[in-house]
Order: sequence, then C-alpha cells, then structure tokens
Amino acid sequence: MADNSSRHGKATRAVGAGRRKEWTGPVVNPPIWRASTHLYESEAERKAALPDNRDGRFYYGRRGAPTQWALADALTELEPGAAGTVLYPSGVAAISGALLAVLSPGDVLLISDNSYEPSRSMGLGLLKRLGVETRFFDPLDLAAYSDLFCDRTKAVWLENPGSLSMEVCDIPALTAKARERGAVSLIDNTWATSLGFPALERGCDITVTSLTKHISGHSDLMMGAASAGELLYRRLRITSQQLGQVVSPDDCALALRGLRTMPLRLERGMQSALQVADWLAAREDVAHVLCPMRPGDSGYELWQRDFTGGCGLFSFVLKGRDEAARARLVDNLELFGIGYSWGGFESLALPFDLDRIRDAMAWPKADWDTGDRWGVRLSIGLEDPADLIKDLESGFAAMDG
Ligand SMILES: *Cc1c(COP(=O)(O)O)cnc(C)c1O
Repeated sequence: MADNSSRHGKATRAVGAGRRKEWTGPVVNPPIWRASTHLYESEAERKAALPDNRDGRFYYGRRGAPTQWALADALTELEPGAAGTVLYPSGVAAISGALLAVLSPGDVLLISDNSYEPSRSMGLGLLKRLGVETRFFDPLDLAAYSDLFCDRTKAVWLENPGSLSMEVCDIPALTAKARERGAVSLIDNTWATSLGFPALERGCDITVTSLTKHISGHSDLMMGAASAGELLYRRLRITSQQLGQVVSPDDCALALRGLRTMPLRLERGMQSALQVADWLAAREDVAHVLCPMRPGDSGYELWQRDFTGGCGLFSFVLKGRDEAARARLVDNLELFGIGYSWGGFESLALPFDLDRIRDAMAWPKADWDTGDRWGVRLSIGLEDPADLIKDLESGFAAMDG
C-alpha cells in the first residue's frame, strides 16, 4: 500500500511522490527504461514471474518498467484511499478502460449530463454496441437522479465541475446513493486532480484523470490514469492489459517532471483565473462568469466544502452578442491560443456550444432570463494576469468594432 496518508502538504507530497530508490537508483529521477523484453536469469525465474502480476515485477514491456511504475506509484501516493494506479495512452483511453472494467452486457450506466463529450460518446457508442444502456442525469437534481436507478444500474459516471458549463455537484450525496444501490461511482477528476479533490475520500470508487492536462502541464504529451482501492484497481489493471494499453517511458518521465511543479502551477493558475474572472464579471458585455472558485458562483459553496484547490480553467458567456461576435473576440486575442486541451503553461480560449451535448440539463441554463448562450472557456496559463486582461480587453474592443 502506498503512503498516501497526507502527512505532508500538497507541494511536499508532489516533490516526493514515487521517488523510490528501486526506481531511481542513485539519481533524483527514474531513468528512462525503454523496454519490451525483460530478460530472466533462468527458466525457474521466468516461471516464477508469470502469476505475479504487480507493478515492480519484471515480466514483459506491456506490464511496464521502472519509469512507468514510478509515475503510477507517484499518482497512487497522491490519491488518498488508492491502492494502485493504471496508466493509459490518453485520458479518453482511461475513461473507456475504466468503464469497460466495470460494465457488462445488460448493465445500465448513469452519466452526468455535463460530462466531457467523449465520455458521453462512449456511452452512446461503444458501450451501446456492447449491450450497456446509458441514461443521462442532471447532477444538480438529486431526486430525479435517485429515481433513475434500477436493479441493472451498475455504474455512475461523474465529473466535477461539469465540462464547459462548470456546475459543481454534491459528490458525497451522489456517490452515497450509488453505493446504496450497489453501483460503482467513477469520476473524471481532471479539473482538480487528486490535489484539489480527493475523489476516493469523497465517495468515488474509481478516479480518472487526463494527465495530458495539469500533470503534464506543458502541452507536450498525452496520457491518462485511473486509481482505485485494491479490488477495483485489480479489475482496471487486468482490463487494461487485455486491451493492450501501454504508455511510453519517455512520456512518463515528462509527466513525472510536470508533476513536481503541479501544485505551484495549479495555485498560480487559480489566482490568475480569479483575477481574470473578476475583471470579466464587471463587464457589460459578459452575461455570466462560470467559475466555482469565485464567491457568489452557484457552485462556490460546494467547491469550498469539498475541494482543496482549484485551477486556471473556467468559462464565461457573452451578453447580447452572436456567434460571429464571439469569433471576432477570440480571433483578436494574441496571448490566448485557440485550441483544445488545457492545463498547459500557455493560455487558451475555446468557444463552446452546448446545444448538441446536453440531454437532461438546459443550455442556455433554465434560470438565465436573457437566454445568452455563446460561451468561451479560458485556460489561464502562467503569463502575467495583467497582460492577459489587456489582451482580452483588445479582443472585446474588436468584438464590437
Ligand atoms: C481532455 C480531457 C479528457 C481527455 O483527455 P485526453 O488525454 O485528451 O484523452 C478527459 N476529461 C476531461 C475533463 C478533459 O478535459
């Protein structure tokens, strides 16, 4: 069992996580072990290794080598309640790998309606073909959610805050209901990471993170992870091995490098995001700022209660403008790139339109009397926030220009 007892603060834990002598030798970081074949000393040793399916046991490249094990260990140590972590070639591979580990034909899966779009497509696509039925729910409506359960409900997929629209839901309440009904709770915890939301302690059974975002932190790799307690960890591991999912040691070394500075980057991203969000909220041409870290936001109370940190990702919605105006705004930003992903050192702006990817929740939100709907998600990077604000100011000026 990893030492994930939170004896130390977040930054201290991120610096020390996974740095075992067996992985690093006499240097600070684990060497990059590029390996498919692992050689045995003897036939007896090869035979003895076969049933021992654990990290840290040489077998064959598909089960990894010390560079991968060091990263998996580090993530387990940072996740209170986890017995192990499986690495995947992308965040989406972690999502599909985790769902395939717990679902069988005939099962019903409940998916939070504001989940990341590829998680929704997994339910509507591959899982449907495999005979799993998906039902979407509004994570803010506990009564309707409770009514959706049936004897075949085997898993609940959560994300907090919700993708793009950033609602915060009551994870302890949602997972307690799932547990009572015998369903496994899985969460996409990419926004907060284990440092900002200890998902297993809040009632989730499996926590999934896209390492592409905050852990990498430098927009140069793709990877995902899923962590769980002993029993589910073993199911995740066996499923990922059956699917043949491996990650490269080079990418693991980069991810470990990113991990060491992640607490600093998260904190700085959050502080800058709050400055930018306050500035946006004061503008006449902004209808809504969707940022649960901000006092007054509808998700703020739950965020304060359940989270131990935030990050630089939030959204806003334009007031009284159209799609073309929004395009003029983002096209005239210089410091913000237009693109997918987030959590890198550089700022990004992503226009979004939720009309086609919500079933149980309204967009524009039901309580928005103006009906404004043209949203932009900002990933606030490590630039000086004053420069980002100036950049946005020029964008807004061009929007109506
Ligand atoms: C990007 C993202 C993922 C998927 O991660 P990839 O590494 O891009 O496959 C999953 N969940 C959320 C919330 C994300 O933003």
